[in-house]
Amino acid sequence: MILTINAYGHPTLRKIAKDIDKDYPNLDKLIADMFETMYFSKGVGLAAPQVDFPIRLIVIDTIPFKKEYPEAMDMKKIMINAHIVEESGNDWLYNEGCLSVPNIHEDILRKSKIKIEYLDENFVEHVEEFEGINARVIQHEYDHLEGKLFVDRVSPLKKMILKRKLTDISKGIVDVDYKMNFPFQNKRRR
Ligand code: ZN
Repeated sequence: MILTINAYGHPTLRKIAKDIDKDYPNLDKLIADMFETMYFSKGVGLAAPQVDFPIRLIVIDTIPFKKEYPEAMDMKKIMINAHIVEESGNDWLYNEGCLSVPNIHEDILRKSKIKIEYLDENFVEHVEEFEGINARVIQHEYDHLEGKLFVDRVSPLKKMILKRKLTDISKGIVDVDYKMNFPFQNKRRR
């Protein structure tokens, strides 16, 4: 089932997401739905708060990047209760976008390597290191678990320039071809 994606301004995008345990209801279905939603909207990662579940769950598939970045091969992951342990390496500028912030792309500076602990879909613990595009996608999705968005990381001047566009997105004044929940949309006009 394709889920509705929360747009910029939605309060769930600003919550710090919670760890879950094995008994979390309908988790397999939620994971399957998140992958379906991500592929449908042509994303490479999706965090549960984006589909209105304030829990520490992200799904990732960086395969669309495999031509440009060899490390993107075989990088389909489910991460539950993800916690970044360490960020290292060089500062790397990369142009990011977000399904919750459609039609905005900005260069964002982040470290090139991460070490992260997480549980897979069988609740088996992993501690892994990632770099390059894989690290970048995880860092972006991880921000969602911390109630942050990539547009929070731009300069104050850039933020001023983006303000109007972001307000428009929260009101649903944006061209998008997947289902979104716009927090400040005037419902009577629809
Ligand atoms: Zn995002």
